[in-house]
Amino acid sequence: MKVEIIKCLQDNYSYLIINEKNNYACVVDPSEAAPIIDFINKKNIKLKYILNTHHHYDHVGGNNDLKKKYKAKVVGFKDDKHRIPNIDILVEHNQKWEEESFESKIIHIPGHTTGHICFYFQKEKIAFTGDTLFSLGCGRIFEGTYKQMYNSLNKLKNLPIDTKIYCGHEYTLSNYLFCSKYDRNNKNLNKKIFEITAKLKKNLPTIPSTIGEESACNIFLRAKNLKEFSKLRDLKDNF
Ligand code: ZN
Ligand code: FE
Repeated sequence: MKVEIIKCLQDNYSYLIINEKNNYACVVDPSEAAPIIDFINKKNIKLKYILNTHHHYDHVGGNNDLKKKYKAKVVGFKDDKHRIPNIDILVEHNQKWEEESFESKIIHIPGHTTGHICFYFQKEKIAFTGDTLFSLGCGRIFEGTYKQMYNSLNKLKNLPIDTKIYCGHEYTLSNYLFCSKYDRNNKNLNKKIFEITAKLKKNLPTIPSTIGEESACNIFLRAKNLKEFSKLRDLKDNF
């Protein structure tokens, strides 16, 4: 299984999970169809499933066109069935979604939206965290509570430390600036800037990160309790 990163819109990432044996693929959070179609055509990929972490337009914008063109099936959280366009397969927390050779655990991680989920491919040790966990940051709390977001991040933090994290946006540099302002003496964090700028200079994604790196560097995962987390989230909203 191989993951390809596809840049969409301004700063979104969509991902193709490809079984290299038969070229069957899932796309995670297609913001728009065109860049996905482009990649699929070039590499002769057969798109089978569209996995949505949440209903925001920059994560589902390509659903309709991709479904039409490839007859791919849309997988999303059951409580969001009325707001994830073209949804076919409803999944719920703790369920294992299995189709073809794809096998993902569903982890409900509300906070950014009430229906946000993570697709966790346990065997491959990769997790698609949408707009909940970013590299060095976390999503804004739009629909949920601070407590929900804090608990959701803790669920992700408990995944094995070598789990690769694929998130919804390239926000790493601005997240770094926030982390370094409030976590000045974090040596692990301070080292990250060289890696981040080197990648961005070459126009490469800073993704994937890992749970281990995020636990060491991401100020939101390092918050000791809900109160500290909430304060940081407020500060970040006005950063
Ligand atoms: Zn979102
Ligand atoms: Fe988003």
